[in-house]
Amino acid sequence: MLLRVLGCSGSDLPGHHLTSFLVDEAILLDAGSVTSALDLSQQSKITDIFVTHAHLDHIKDILFLADNLIEFFSGKDRPPVRIHGLADVLGSIAEHLLNDTIWPDFTVIPENAPVLAYHPLAPETVIQVRGLNVATCPVNHARAASGFVLWSDDGEHNVAYTGDTGPNGRWWDFLNALPFPLTNLITEASFPNSMETLARTSKHLTPGLLRVELERLTVRPKVHIYHMKSPFSAQIQEELQRDLAGYTYHLMNEKETFSF
Ligand SMILES: [Zn+2]
Ligand SMILES: [Zn+2]
Repeated sequence: MLLRVLGCSGSDLPGHHLTSFLVDEAILLDAGSVTSALDLSQQSKITDIFVTHAHLDHIKDILFLADNLIEFFSGKDRPPVRIHGLADVLGSIAEHLLNDTIWPDFTVIPENAPVLAYHPLAPETVIQVRGLNVATCPVNHARAASGFVLWSDDGEHNVAYTGDTGPNGRWWDFLNALPFPLTNLITEASFPNSMETLARTSKHLTPGLLRVELERLTVRPKVHIYHMKSPFSAQIQEELQRDLAGYTYHLMNEKETFSF
């Protein structure tokens, strides 16, 4: 599978865009920066959006994407773009964003051909999307946050994405129990070690906390780091070098493409 980084920063600043990954040109993992990264033709190819949690930096471009796509749905016989996530996360989006106050409810417009549809997922249940298997498992972050694992039928091509997370147990057990050895992990390091108290309160990781989490894994995937808070990135990078010694890791960059 091809994964393109549309945004991978924990801060919204020039040159640093919020979290969103595009898989095989049609599947979004989170939607923090979509409409600023893809042209309209590329946006029109999106069929599925997987949402880890309802924090704005992971969902805000669902709003603008839906608005841009109206012309591809109005009067056309096209199935809606599916928003997948835990029911609680989809409920938050419906209640607080696509509620006809903050933004129009694109699950009912255009009439007869809505742009969006909610597709709630049960934890640790596998679904098939565009030839890939996808499963979600709760993580320790915002209300009802979860990460996703995507893999090909033979398990050879795979990636697990924690989304934002603080220290947590069940997620790592879930990865250890997958029916194939995980080879790619996207996870976060938001704050430097000196801000561990803030990281724990806001349910994020520091390089030191990430090291402890990785030690829970019985496999050794390549670790791709996202969601650094930009003002602290130099310090975080220095600490990663020390704290992740012995691990194969990589700091994600915008516009990078990975073949997983
Ligand atoms: Zn978050
Ligand atoms: Zn975030």
